[in-house]
Amino acid sequence: MADALPPPSIRLALNETPLGPSPAAIDAIKADLSGLARYTGRELDDLTAAIAARENIAPEQIVLGENLNVLGLYLSARGGRGGTFVYSEPGYTALVDAVTPAGGRVVGVPLNAALENDLPAIAAVVDGTTRAVYLVNPHNPSGTVSDTAAFIAAVRDLSARTLVIVDEAYLEFMPDFAARSVAPLVREGGNVAVFRTFSKIFGLASLAIGYTLAPKPLAAALKQMGIGAFFGLSRLSLVAATASLGDHDYVASVRTKVAAEREAWHALLRARGRRFSASQANFVFFDCGRPHAEAAAALAARGIIIGRAQPQFDAWLRISIGLPVENAIARQAVAELLPASG
Ligand code: PMP
Repeated sequence: MADALPPPSIRLALNETPLGPSPAAIDAIKADLSGLARYTGRELDDLTAAIAARENIAPEQIVLGENLNVLGLYLSARGGRGGTFVYSEPGYTALVDAVTPAGGRVVGVPLNAALENDLPAIAAVVDGTTRAVYLVNPHNPSGTVSDTAAFIAAVRDLSARTLVIVDEAYLEFMPDFAARSVAPLVREGGNVAVFRTFSKIFGLASLAIGYTLAPKPLAAALKQMGIGAFFGLSRLSLVAATASLGDHDYVASVRTKVAAEREAWHALLRARGRRFSASQANFVFFDCGRPHAEAAAALAARGIIIGRAQPQFDAWLRISIGLPVENAIARQAVAELLPASG
């Protein structure tokens, strides 16, 4: 008897958005393919100008690229060994992972009971050694978003004491993202940096393009090291990002579809009496009632790859929103895995 074929992979582990990218981004890449032999030129200025217009911010405050880790390494090295970096735990670790080689120390603050950034607890650990606070809003892996006014006030207060880096990778999954962004604090000259990526709602994860909005001296220091310079950026990424920013209808349609899929997950979890976070992003996070390793292996045997285990949340799974057919298969598999309700 022939061996059974392995099941096809349904990749729901890394919070990409397979509904994207915008067709305009694909067209822009196709149109630019003939220029591969050339370094990028005008494309860098075009994307910078598009971001400047969108964020209403000076071009010199924009640093292009996926630069969270280099930002962590730079901040850690710049002030000498022993600086502390505060973040929520569990959390996305790209920035804090990069601080230790230069002698930085990481301080993890547990999420609050609602699995949101615990802003008062974070403020309480900031001291004279703090080099930066790194906040992800909506958070990863919980997907929770903080109350708008409370969050902006907390970032404003913290930024009087230290640099605050706010990672808004998932913010655009919320219809009112503009009101929730702390980009205005960067524009006003606050000690605040904002990170954005085209890897999530814009569906361009493979092109590795994002940007940081930073205080002018920090932006200048990063650029002086060659971060965001033409030689480190792919022109295909730049043209695709610029085209994506212009396609508002497409982004809105992705937002709506992701929200519907997320709600279908939450409806299943509610019906089965499971605890889950109030995710506003393109993933769900819930207590599956058995160890992560066991649940992940059972799902992998059916070709479904989910997010990694999170410290202190051993029975919780993070599952990204994929294509509708993938989500349906994953929900069915999870429904069979969950303990009987009652
Ligand atoms: N920030 C957060 C909070 C993320 O979850 C991710 C992706 N997992 C990123 C930034 C950046 O991802 P990328 O490097 O693909 O842009």
